[in-house]
Amino acid sequence: MLDWDGTVTERDTLVAVVLRFGDKAVFDRLDGEIGRTQTQHQVIAAEVATLDATLAEMTEYLLDTVPVRAGFRELAACHQPTIVSAGFHELIEPLLAREGIELDVHANRLEPTGAGWRAVFSDTRPCPVCGEACKRGAMLAGGAPVTFVGDGVSDYCAALGADRVFARDWLADWLDERGAPYESWHDFHELARTIAS
Ligand SMILES: [Mg+2]
Ligand SMILES: [Zn+2]
Repeated sequence: MLDWDGTVTERDTLVAVVLRFGDKAVFDRLDGEIGRTQTQHQVIAAEVATLDATLAEMTEYLLDTVPVRAGFRELAACHQPTIVSAGFHELIEPLLAREGIELDVHANRLEPTGAGWRAVFSDTRPCPVCGEACKRGAMLAGGAPVTFVGDGVSDYCAALGADRVFARDWLADWLDERGAPYESWHDFHELARTIAS
């Protein structure tokens, strides 16, 4: 299973649209508060509420500015991973289509309101481990052993519940601090070679 933002994509799509179409002051004030004074859902909901653009404007911007990491197409064809994201179907699926890839996606929904956009979260029950409505439940729902690939805050709890973890960036630092096992990865070519070996 793959996280999407910062894992498949080289740039976080929600951060990208908030900085381009939303309120940067809200982003600056709240993003560092995740896991401190705010839950991830509270921060995402607040950021999404500032978006002032049509879905077409947002997806066009992402299609123009957000590349996927090297080797994603090959890995997707070989392993058909499920995407488990704290982001949005509406922002993920156009990028998958651009790459000519069809994968199962577990993510949230962007819902239009009269005034703008609202986040509708797919996971709403608090996780028994971390207390937030995190990705762990969706990741383990199939009951089969899970290899999980991630990079950031939204992956912390899920990574501790996976059977095999590939981590980079904040997720790798966080697992280091806890002495939790993981394998490093840089791009999907390297990841595919490690899995095959
Ligand atoms: Mg991520
Ligand atoms: Zn959790």
